[in-house]
Amino acid sequence: MSAVIVVHGGAWAIPDELAKASVDGVKAAACEGFAVLKGGGSALDAVEAAVRTLEDNTVFNAGHGAALNSEGEVELDAIIMDGRTLASGAVSSVKNIANPVSLARAVMEKTSHAMLTSRGANLFAESIGVVTVPADTLVTEYEREEWEKHKNYVTGVMEDFNSQWAHDTVGAVAVDSAGNVACATSTGGIRNKMVGRVGDSPVIGCGGYADNLSGAVSCTGHGESILKVTLARLILSHIEQGKSAEDSSQASLQYMGDRVHGAGGAIVVCPSGRWAATFTTERMAWAAVDQDVLWYGLNPDERFKEQLSK
Ligand code: ASP
Repeated sequence: MSAVIVVHGGAWAIPDELAKASVDGVKAAACEGFAVLKGGGSALDAVEAAVRTLEDNTVFNAGHGAALNSEGEVELDAIIMDGRTLASGAVSSVKNIANPVSLARAVMEKTSHAMLTSRGANLFAESIGVVTVPADTLVTEYEREEWEKHKNYVTGVMEDFNSQWAHDTVGAVAVDSAGNVACATSTGGIRNKMVGRVGDSPVIGCGGYADNLSGAVSCTGHGESILKVTLARLILSHIEQGKSAEDSSQASLQYMGDRVHGAGGAIVVCPSGRWAATFTTERMAWAAVDQDVLWYGLNPDERFKEQLSK
């Protein structure tokens, strides 16, 4: 069975000046995650490695470079899930953790809880020796300027994700050579969100879900809409009914648009290795590695291909 990884860098109207950096970023993260799979690592290790790469890349709205809330602060959310056991871990509203996905993994592996938030997440991080960073070091000049420009605007759901005011969450899904699947999602949320707002990303079944019996999903887009339709689980329920990964994602995103007027995107991988990257926003940067071929795209129906060295 061949291992596959798919990553996304967020679904929104990515402006041209960020297009190349976004595509380069997802390609690099997919290769990083695939190297883990190729070295015999698990799907869980691969999605964590890929998402850490994206969190460290300032072009994306996760970790370093995250969107700022209404008070100009970073508040980060992340989830990771293991399709073997349905174990999951998440953190929400953390301010000074550079790689929330790894803290989410520690919540999964070292506590009996599924999510820790805010101060509690920090106390836990401290107790297990996860290094904290001054919150300001996660803020980029670009984000500070965008936040200043847009802080007085309140926009509608579709407008937000089809405008250039939203920003890009990151995620990864993988299947390893043993047929185990995993997902991870990490975000700074929506620019100018209320203090303490938690979106879909760290919520199980919404921002991500992984089950060896059906597949793994990581979502992006308008969090409140994704929460209403439990998008990750909705996609997997279509797969359980026998639809392809592509059709399941398309049907679920379409439903979210029709039912609650939300736009977004999703990446999916099935235990069989079949995968999809789908979105209803103007753009979504995504990349996948499947049998030493790197696939990637940004605009609707785009699918470029590069052969990686074996
Ligand atoms: N889903 C994220 C949130 O609402 C944002 C995004 O995907 O860009 O927090």
